[in-house]
Amino acid sequence: RRRSAPVDEFSALGSEALQALREELRKDYAHFQDRGLKLDLTRGKPSAEQLDFSNELLGLPGAQDFKAADGTDTRNYGGLHGLPELREIFSPLLQVPVDQLLASDNSSLSLMHDLVMHAMLFALPGGETRWVDVQRPAFLCPVPGYDRHFSICEKFGIEMIPVEPTEDGLLDIDEVERLAASDPRIKGIWLVPKYSNPTGVTVSDRTAERLAGMTTAAPDFRIFWDDAYSVHHLTDHRVTVAPIVQLCAEAGKADRVFVLGSTSKITFAGAGVSFLGSSPANLQWYLGHIAKRTIGPDKTNHLRHVRFLQDSEGVQKLMERHRDNLAPKFAKVQEILAAELGGTGVASWTEAFGGYFISLDVLDGTASEVIRLAKEAGIALTPAGSTYPYGKDPRDRNIRLAPSFPPVADLDTAMRGVVLCVKLAAVEKLLE
Ligand code: PLP
Repeated sequence: RRRSAPVDEFSALGSEALQALREELRKDYAHFQDRGLKLDLTRGKPSAEQLDFSNELLGLPGAQDFKAADGTDTRNYGGLHGLPELREIFSPLLQVPVDQLLASDNSSLSLMHDLVMHAMLFALPGGETRWVDVQRPAFLCPVPGYDRHFSICEKFGIEMIPVEPTEDGLLDIDEVERLAASDPRIKGIWLVPKYSNPTGVTVSDRTAERLAGMTTAAPDFRIFWDDAYSVHHLTDHRVTVAPIVQLCAEAGKADRVFVLGSTSKITFAGAGVSFLGSSPANLQWYLGHIAKRTIGPDKTNHLRHVRFLQDSEGVQKLMERHRDNLAPKFAKVQEILAAELGGTGVASWTEAFGGYFISLDVLDGTASEVIRLAKEAGIALTPAGSTYPYGKDPRDRNIRLAPSFPPVADLDTAMRGVVLCVKLAAVEKLLE
C-alpha cells in the first residue's frame, strides 16, 4: 500500500493561501470542463485489446471437434460437474482438488447469487434451518468491498455488517473472529482473498488459517472465498494465498468455504467459464439444487477453453499478456496520484500488485463532491459509497478507480481531471 507522504500540506496552509489555491484550482477546473470530455473510470472491464488476446476462442473448438477426452459429446445435455479436463487446468490455480471443483457457465457472480438463494430456501449441510427462517440473517462485509456482493445481500434482505480494515489496510481477523463467534444470525463473510476489489490486499496465510479454524456461532457459517483475481498479477511477484479448502478440511470444518472463480478477466468477460470449489457435502447439496434448473453447463465452451488454454501454464502465459497491457495503465495512475496528490495530506491510495483496482481515499466528507465535480467535467467515476454496504460510506471518502478499460492517453487525461477535483473539493472543505 502506498500512502501519501504524511505532510499535511493543505491543512497547514493559512486561509489566505488556501483561498488563493482555491482560485487557481477553480480556474483549472473551468478550463478542464471546457474540454467537453467523455471518459469512464467506473467498471473494471477488460479493454478491447485484452479481449483480442483470446480471439482464437471464436474459432474453437472447430467444426469437427466436439468430443471431450472421455468421449463425451459436448454438444449434448449432461455433465453437471463440467468438463474434467477444464477443471484440471484450474484446480492448481484455484487450489481446489479437481474432484471438488465444478466448472459452470459464464459468471461466478451468478454462482454466488444462486448459493445465497439456495441457502435462503434450503438448509445447508450442518445447518438447522433455512436462512429465510432466521430472524435477520447477516453477513460480514469487509470494507471497502465489491458492490455486487453487497447487492446480493441487499436483494435477499441479509443484513450487512461492515468490517473496517486494520491500520495496515488488512482484513481485521480479530474483529471477524469476534463477530462470527458472537451471533448465530451471522451466516457468512464475503472475501476476495487475493488482490481484492478494490484495495488490492491479499489474505495472509495466518489469517486464512484463522478463518478456517475460527469458532462460529452459526453452524452453517460460510466463507464466500471469491478468488476472482487468482492469476491477475501486475508485477513479477506472483502473490500466493493459502489453500483454503484444504485448511478448512484440516481444521475439521470442511463445509465452511465456497471457492469461486472465473475466466471473465482471463478470456472473455461475457463468455468465459466459472468455477465453484467446496467440500463433497456442499457440492452434493448444490448439485442437487441446480439439477432442477439445468441439465448441464455449456460444455462446448468448456472444450473451447481447454483447446485454447491447454494447461495451467497456458493460463499463466495468457495472464502475462494481460499484465503487459495493464501494468502501464496502473503505473500511469500511480504516477499522476503521486505527482499531484503526494504530500498534500488530502488523499491516500493503494498500490495494487494485481487485480483490477486502485482504492483512493480522499479527504473525509469529500468523495461525493469529487465524483460530482468529475461528472460535470465529463469523467464518470464509480458512484460515491458503492464500495460500502447499502452504498453508504460513513466517512464519504472512498473512490474506486478502474484503470483497465480506457487507453493510456485517456487515462492520463481522466486522472489529471480526477486529481484536480480531489484538490478542489478538499480546499473547499477546508475553507468551510
Ligand atoms: N468477483 C469480484 C471480486 C469481481 O471484482 C468481479 C467483477 O468485477 C466478479 C466477481 C464478477 O465475476 P464474474 O464475471 O465471474 O461473474
